Amino acid sequence: MSEQDGYMVQGGCLCGAVRFSLHAKPIVAGYCHCSRCQRRTGTASGVSVMVDPEQVTWMSGERLITGWAPPDGHVKCFCSVCGAHLFSRSPDHRRMAIRMAAFDSDPGIRPSYRQFVDYAASWEPIPEDGLPRDGGARPR
Ligand SMILES: [Zn+2]
Ligand SMILES: [Zn+2]
Repeated sequence: MSEQDGYMVQGGCLCGAVRFSLHAKPIVAGYCHCSRCQRRTGTASGVSVMVDPEQVTWMSGERLITGWAPPDGHVKCFCSVCGAHLFSRSPDHRRMAIRMAAFDSDPGIRPSYRQFVDYAASWEPIPEDGLPRDGGARPR
């Protein structure tokens, strides 16, 4: 994907140490109801946008980013100072999903699916928003 003229949104962590900018519109956005997303967020689901990692620039705090690498799946990356979740990435760094709430302003995309709904929290009903649902990972 090439850089898109005029598109730029910024974001960062809770304490402000980590700052980034994204220079191309995200590819897709969606909710994840898996148990890992519940644990890492402390909420019923996570919402992330898939981006081209080459379109992300770290403006500050990159050295403060740490991550948890599960035995399978993407590394969950967060600020080591404040704990704010920022993104996940594939082990080979070729795929990246930024946590939607890490952006300062509207990234210009809306969630278009819900995945891992078979693992959804029992204490929060999934909204009847018409989005396609998948019991496991969204087909790619
Ligand atoms: Zn922070
Ligand atoms: Zn998940």
